[in-house]
Amino acid sequence: MPELPEVEVVRRGLATWVAGREISAVEVCHPRAVRRHAAGALDFAGRLKGRRIEAVSRRGKYLWCRLDDDVAMVGHLGMSGQLLMLTPGAPDEKHLRVRISFADDGPELRFVDQRTFGGLAVTSMVPDDASGLVPDTIAHIARDLMDPRLDLDAVVRVVRRRPSGIKRVLLDQQVASGIGNIYADEALWRVQVHGDRAADRLSATQVRQVLAAAKEVMDEALEQGGTSFDSLYVNVNGESGYFDRRLNAYGREGEPCPRCGTAIRRSAFMNRSSFWCPRCQPAPRARARQHSRDG
Ligand SMILES: [Zn+2]
Repeated sequence: MPELPEVEVVRRGLATWVAGREISAVEVCHPRAVRRHAAGALDFAGRLKGRRIEAVSRRGKYLWCRLDDDVAMVGHLGMSGQLLMLTPGAPDEKHLRVRISFADDGPELRFVDQRTFGGLAVTSMVPDDASGLVPDTIAHIARDLMDPRLDLDAVVRVVRRRPSGIKRVLLDQQVASGIGNIYADEALWRVQVHGDRAADRLSATQVRQVLAAAKEVMDEALEQGGTSFDSLYVNVNGESGYFDRRLNAYGREGEPCPRCGTAIRRSAFMNRSSFWCPRCQPAPRARARQHSRDG
């Protein structure tokens, strides 16, 4: 499943390929791909046709193409979405959902999504705090750690008010957007904090270290071109990233911790898994008591 660095890789690719171009035709091949566009597929296509793409932006895992007249096409890749640039006439992908053609007859944009959890929608832009305009459907999403306008002190304060486990708080898109399961586990491994430790019991310095580690691991993934854990993930040129080879904890159950050699453990977490080192990241005391013989 694409996480923030992968989506940023896609955004950069898209910005190179589509900014400044005028949309000439839109073909919706599967209505589910535009289900978040309440007025339906015909309206979706009609609102894009003839418009120029001015810029491609991102917040967390949401991407948007800003069009003229303060309208945006917002996209989310879901589990398996791909935004591919292809020469018009190239064979259609099996799971092609939306095709966007341009007036210059250059490469077309294809939204391909096997599992169809992702989607596209056209929405209006609304004023944002400092940065100007943001699509109204994602105005409630918090800024992400790569956003230069992020107020890190404010995020630290929000995190330290939460009584839940730090990993759960990291994944809350209203605290800071775009930190997914893989990067949360990697960040917590780096700073040697167990994901079940209560956020409101961590010091401001610890929270700052966790957030810095999350940004660091995502920056590194971005340099590598994104994580290719899911074979369906590719960037707009159809190439995968190579970051998965450098993960220290995630997906490494039973393998030695690269820092101390103890076997990495896996535990259930919100219908997913957490990977952690039992020695470097001891479980919080309350939890340890729960599991001890004395109860
Ligand atoms: Zn360890």
